[in-house]
Amino acid sequence: MKGFGKNFLCRTSFLHSFFIGFVYDSIRWESLCLTQCHFMEVLNVEMDVPYHLPLLLDGATGTNLIHREHMPLEQCPEQWILQHPQALLSLQHDFVKAGSQVLLAPTFQANALALEKYGLAAEDINLTERLVFLTKQASGGNTLVAGSIGPTGQGIEPFGKLRFQQIVDTYRRQVQAMRKAGVDLIVCETMTSLSDARAALLAAKETGLPVFVSVVVTEEEEEMPDGTKLLCALAVLQSMGADAFGINCSGSPGQILPWFEKIAPYAQIPLLAKPNPGNPNPVNLGQYDLGPEIFAKEVGRLIDVGVSIVGGCCGTSPEHVHALANLIRNRSSRPLQHHPDEDEVLAASGHEAFFLREDMTMGEPLSCELDMADDILEYEDSGFDILPVQVETEDDAYHLGLNCHMFRLPVLIASHSFELMEQSLFEFQGRALVDSQCGLENDELYRLAKRYGAIVY
Ligand SMILES: [Zn+2]
Repeated sequence: MKGFGKNFLCRTSFLHSFFIGFVYDSIRWESLCLTQCHFMEVLNVEMDVPYHLPLLLDGATGTNLIHREHMPLEQCPEQWILQHPQALLSLQHDFVKAGSQVLLAPTFQANALALEKYGLAAEDINLTERLVFLTKQASGGNTLVAGSIGPTGQGIEPFGKLRFQQIVDTYRRQVQAMRKAGVDLIVCETMTSLSDARAALLAAKETGLPVFVSVVVTEEEEEMPDGTKLLCALAVLQSMGADAFGINCSGSPGQILPWFEKIAPYAQIPLLAKPNPGNPNPVNLGQYDLGPEIFAKEVGRLIDVGVSIVGGCCGTSPEHVHALANLIRNRSSRPLQHHPDEDEVLAASGHEAFFLREDMTMGEPLSCELDMADDILEYEDSGFDILPVQVETEDDAYHLGLNCHMFRLPVLIASHSFELMEQSLFEFQGRALVDSQCGLENDELYRLAKRYGAIVY
């Protein structure tokens, strides 16, 4: 796992970098797409939610509250907002007037793990519900209201102290509070690790609401701060049923454009961009490189390559949102571009995505152990294309999760137990293949594959 780049922390403005600095230190229709090469892919291929694309989100919450309303950096933002509700209402009214079609409730850090550093972990449900109510008040029914989910700030084992289950349970409390408070959709944003993004998506999908997932990308590595390649994140999250995938913060529209150009051919769900208007001005606090018109012009280039859900992150004012509203008024989003070879299927493991081919080979399955490094390296030297693992016990499934950052090949999971197969897919931070010949009932296997975005092989 890679560390967080220093430049990334400098460039990613303000509240998001402030937070990231703590991290680690509708009815949809589904398609069963049988390829020529034995891969059965269960994919959600079209979003059908009650609004049109292109869709306009809102602008920055944190930077505007700091510069316009003098929110202090040292206090928990969620708590401060509830103590100063007029500050948020004023800002969000301005976003509505500017043309936002979706307001994001300021629930970014209102999960129990992120609230721990303020001693407010037990307040997660209370804070989340009250903040959603406040944004619904600001919206006045003129926009959709989204619950915003941010990173937990905690890594999972072996890099952090927590089990993946604890991350999912933390998000589950927050998203159920959002659903109860009446959000229309959920936006998981500024995701810095694939494990947090998977956990947030798994929990949020349980609400039955549309779920967008947006990650941060570091400029120097072109990957998420935990080392996950962008194509890997897309492959994993879209196959798990995200309704949109994208990038927020991370740079200006022009800086994130090449990353969208690379992943757009493989996107089977709408792409989302919530970039920053460049870097903050070190002298004139609250000012950023790009004014509203040039920012909107650059966002137009993102729409040209296939992005259809737009907004602004740190530094974007209501004026930036107004310019975006003018931009999208007469734009229709470009249809999703599928890769020319529709039979290509993407698996993902160890932070990488892999194109599966018809002629792939594999050897005898590895058994799962606490430390699989030597076995994995030896297997990978043998020249096979797929690495099979056998899961026989609960410990095996747990150990598979502990070692999943080690894999440099697509991983196929075999198990004789439905429960163990499910636990393995839950713990595996990637997009695995599941062995259709391992004796499990096919309908059940496809149900599991759909939930975890796996590929039946
Ligand atoms: Zn941001």
